[in-house]
Amino acid sequence: MTTATEQPADVVARLRATFRTGRTKPVARRTDQLRRLRALLTERGADLAAALHADLGKSSTEAYRTEIDFTVREIDHTLDHLDAWLRPESAPVPAHLGTDASAWTQYDPLGVVLVIAPWNYPAQLLLAPLVGALAAGNTVVVKPSELAPATSAALARLLPAYLDTDTVAVVEGGVPETTALLAERFDHIFYTGNGTVGRIVLRAAAEHLTPVTLELGGKSPVFVDRDADLAVVADRLARGKFLNAGQTCVAPDYVLTDPRTAAALEPLLTGAVEALYGTDPQSSPEYGRIVNERHFDRLTGLLESGRTVVGGGTDRTDKYIAPTVLADVDPKSPVMREEIFGPILPIVTVSGLDEAIAFVNDRDKPLALYVFTESDATRARIAAETSSGGLGFGLPLAHLTVSDLPFGGVGESGMGNYHGRYSIETFSHRKAVLAKPLG
Ligand code: NAD
Repeated sequence: MTTATEQPADVVARLRATFRTGRTKPVARRTDQLRRLRALLTERGADLAAALHADLGKSSTEAYRTEIDFTVREIDHTLDHLDAWLRPESAPVPAHLGTDASAWTQYDPLGVVLVIAPWNYPAQLLLAPLVGALAAGNTVVVKPSELAPATSAALARLLPAYLDTDTVAVVEGGVPETTALLAERFDHIFYTGNGTVGRIVLRAAAEHLTPVTLELGGKSPVFVDRDADLAVVADRLARGKFLNAGQTCVAPDYVLTDPRTAAALEPLLTGAVEALYGTDPQSSPEYGRIVNERHFDRLTGLLESGRTVVGGGTDRTDKYIAPTVLADVDPKSPVMREEIFGPILPIVTVSGLDEAIAFVNDRDKPLALYVFTESDATRARIAAETSSGGLGFGLPLAHLTVSDLPFGGVGESGMGNYHGRYSIETFSHRKAVLAKPLG
């Protein structure tokens, strides 16, 4: 466990010493730590759910679905497949090396990994990278977000109670503590959060030539084609957008559609919001809250960017912003100039598919792009003509629950990826080995 007086350099030195003993490398040791983490989640899930409720007003259902059970599934998937993922892969040897030579790749753990997590899914986004880093045989320093203080405290209490404290260290704190950590040499840094801090992390890592994964955000667009079943679209959009009060990195940020489809979608979105949270979402136990006053003030400043279709209500003392849909939104308005990261869904009209593709390509590469269409040709064009971290046809958010898909961004939305076997790729070095008998 880290003590109040233990400096970042001491924490890293302690974990590096563990790594040097080699004891984190045997697969049995890795799976033992993963099973302990699983036990934490099943035995103390309620503690984490209570902390998530305190930080974000998350309902218990949502806390389990999107954070606790999500991580349990990631662990189970890893336990099921780790042996196969780690198996060395042989490579054909060129003729000039002779028929007795052999070549293969093997996965080596990197050493000491730093995981820096954000506040919006403060348990999942710290623990899912931890699963991968442990499965790959590393020691790990985890830094929870100070903006989710109850979850940070719960993780700092629970992780040392379940995991080997010389393998996993929790360092709590904000900018000064993270800055001090980043001065140390790590073998990989895994950062989830905004691009401004992502750049700080990348600069700090450059000093030590440390490889970095950046899981960033941005505006994830939705294109609704005129042939789509709009009742289904409205339901799935509302569920994806207003989960965690819109504070989801892959939440649909805005909708692009033609004017007629927009007009038809508006009442259906109103109905979908009411079906999910009733006519007074503030009293719905299923609806979350904005993380803090700073984000509340930022978001309320965006509410004037269009005509309110549904929502618009706010309560600062409760950090409540109603699930809100805005129509007739100008692409240059404030709500279209930054990642919204809150429960506001603007609808921007375009003439059709060509303009929608151009709209997306004129902006930063998104973390996710969602398309609702019945047309194979439209799907094929979107897939071929746009670039995004992930692409979802017909269902927002769900691609990140497929453990066999890599999760990560591209361009402004990040670099690198993880989940399942991709976490092994991220947290290992794939070593090339050539062997030629001496005889
Ligand atoms: P945040 O404020 O919690 O910051 C993330 C981490 O960075 C925290 O641990 C924090 O302590 C640290 N940090 C903050 N300032 C720092 C500094 N100056 N130097 C060093 N470290 C510092 O979270 P956030 O950035 O507000 O998170 C929201 C953003 O993250 C959104 O853009 C969202 O889209 C993105 N996000 C991406 C993913 C993903 O998986 N790609 C997931 C969640 C959130």
